[in-house]
Amino acid sequence: MGRAFTYVILGGGVAAGYAALEFVRRRGDAAPGELCIVSEEAVAPYERPALSKGYLLPEGGARLPAFHTCVGANDQLLTEDWYNEHGIELILGMKIISADVRRKTLLTSSGETISYKTLIVATGARALKLEEFGGNGSDAENVCYLRNIEDADKLVHQMRSCPGGNAIVIGGGYIGMECAAALVANKIKVTIVFPGKHCMGRLFTPKIAEFYENYYTSKGVTFIKGTTVSSLEISSGKVTTAILRDGRRLPADMVVVGIGARANTALFEGQLVMEKGGIKVNGKMQTSDASVYAVGDVATFPVKLLGGGARRFEHVDCARRTARHAVAAALDHPSGPAGDIDYLPFFYSRVFALSWRFYGDNAGEAVHFGDLSSSSSASSPPKFGAFWVSAGRITGAFLEGGSPEEYEAIAHAVRSGAAAPDAARLAREGLAFVVRE
Ligand code: FAD
Repeated sequence: MGRAFTYVILGGGVAAGYAALEFVRRRGDAAPGELCIVSEEAVAPYERPALSKGYLLPEGGARLPAFHTCVGANDQLLTEDWYNEHGIELILGMKIISADVRRKTLLTSSGETISYKTLIVATGARALKLEEFGGNGSDAENVCYLRNIEDADKLVHQMRSCPGGNAIVIGGGYIGMECAAALVANKIKVTIVFPGKHCMGRLFTPKIAEFYENYYTSKGVTFIKGTTVSSLEISSGKVTTAILRDGRRLPADMVVVGIGARANTALFEGQLVMEKGGIKVNGKMQTSDASVYAVGDVATFPVKLLGGGARRFEHVDCARRTARHAVAAALDHPSGPAGDIDYLPFFYSRVFALSWRFYGDNAGEAVHFGDLSSSSSASSPPKFGAFWVSAGRITGAFLEGGSPEEYEAIAHAVRSGAAAPDAARLAREGLAFVVRE
């Protein structure tokens, strides 16, 4: 059994949704056999970041169809009907178990072969499991990960079954931090355990981290840093205690694990060139096989702004932009072939009443500005940030509590590589330095 399509998008996450909209905008409705999306998930593409934010609210949480792509970019809401109406075949709940790049075919878990002329790989990433680090307990009833709707439903269910209980959050990255905030909102006592010196170790400076850790502490969260959970004690299928490497025992009614992600590249190992944990692509998001594009979390692409170095991002904005770019390049629109992508790295998070954005690269010297000492009880909302300066230019910028204009201004400073004054002046002027630019 086999089916043939001109274009196949493999994966039905954020990048897939934005790719589909771009396709229709450039090409109009798809003709029969022209475009399909194959996804292991049972629902049409949605804005994944909602899962750790609105979805986990104790009351009135966000539910589909409200957060299908592309609402996250203030664009059209693409429900399942939208795909039908535009001739795009959505093959949902279907896992691709192997790919043959030479033959241009994909094999589904139900034994069907799907062939393509052009393939867009948008398989995203998966959450790393405790077992991959020598731990245990992933299958326990009250151990939660967070990557898809099923995970989010399990998390919501667990939160509702232990009001006032104890949650252990393993990992101090954005999943751990966002889930911790959601657990607090659901009136659960939270202890976050991670091996580093401070939270969000890959992005935050110690000073920025200290602000957020103090804020979380004022909300009742306990941090246990510099150690890991070595095992989980399980009774009748449920974790009861988390045992730390230093021997401490923490009672647990539920556990949330956020220990990182890995790009879903396995289908293409040995067939496409890989780099930095992802599928290597050129500035058109084209892989080492000219018929295959890769976008979103799975793609490692050259970033002009960072001197053309190859990078891979697990950022929703990156998924949206790389998807649009790949479609433009693959369709080779009459308005001319798409140039190389020119991406400004952008990441954000929202927790409690806080909200921050980061642009660029956190390389070089970090210069902080604003008041990093305020707490959750302060009368005015916190506003502070940092610039990263390298070779006299602003290469990265972080801002908590900015207005749209201020975020735009820091993004512009990074994109244009604004010349930075000496650190003391930059720290003193802070946001005013870029806002008046
Ligand atoms: P995904 O959205 O993960 O989609 C991949 C798709 O491929 C899935 O549908 C998957 O089922 C499918 N798939 C994989 N393998 C197969 C296969 N073999 N067969 C069939 N289908 C397959 N980023 C930010 O910038 N800010 C945030 O605040 C933020 N919050 C986040 C919160 C959560 C809980 C998570 C999990 C991520 C968050 N991100 C955030 C990251 C952002 O969501 C990702 O960068 C984005 O989803 C990547 O899009 P993608 O399409 O590449 O991958």
